[in-house]
Amino acid sequence: LFISIEGPDGSGKSTQINLLRDFFNCQERAVILTREPGGTVISEKIRQIILDKEHTEMDPMTEALLYAAARAQHVAEIIKPALEKGITVICDRFVDSSIAYQGYGRQLAQPVQVINEYAVAGCMPDVTFLLKIDPSVGKKRIREEEQDRLEKEKLEFHQAVFQGYLAMEKAYPQRIIGIDASRSIEEVSQDILVHLSRLSKD
Ligand code: C5P
Repeated sequence: LFISIEGPDGSGKSTQINLLRDFFNCQERAVILTREPGGTVISEKIRQIILDKEHTEMDPMTEALLYAAARAQHVAEIIKPALEKGITVICDRFVDSSIAYQGYGRQLAQPVQVINEYAVAGCMPDVTFLLKIDPSVGKKRIREEEQDRLEKEKLEFHQAVFQGYLAMEKAYPQRIIGIDASRSIEEVSQDILVHLSRLSKD
């Protein structure tokens, strides 16, 4: 089972991912937790290049290609081999982040779509939980040091990203499950688990 978790900054992804891992561990199911950009030595190095605060001048196409490059390595080295062994993979962000941030946020929809078809090499999540929170609310939930990085982008950018996520939820209703992330940690977690148990019955 391949699960990805998506959402705007401050949507509570990390908290929910840890709870999800605990849930699988309790069931004694083999699970790995990984993240994007990152997940492998090479991809974490690419993450550092992209998220380096000093490099504000990065061209949007360079950024889109680097995210896709990090993803290609992540799929080949971690995700595909794990799935082949029957291990459940929980991924903190995946290709939908690129469509939302680089595609909608930086208005590179078409190239992002194309390069990521190569990057994922047919390996798509079985289910994606989209933690939905308005970016202005999400921003308030974020640690101070992270705030600086986010501040570089205008709220309009984050709103465009969020709109991108909502468009994908509509376009791929079979895969993407929207979750109202403005609620408490427990309510959000419960909602995710209910959807998961329904999926395992299908
Ligand atoms: O989810 P996490 O906080 O680790 O993501 C790091 C940052 O990378 C996010 O704040 C997000 O703005 C950015 N990002 C991006 N495009 C992606 C993935 C993440 O701009 N495809």
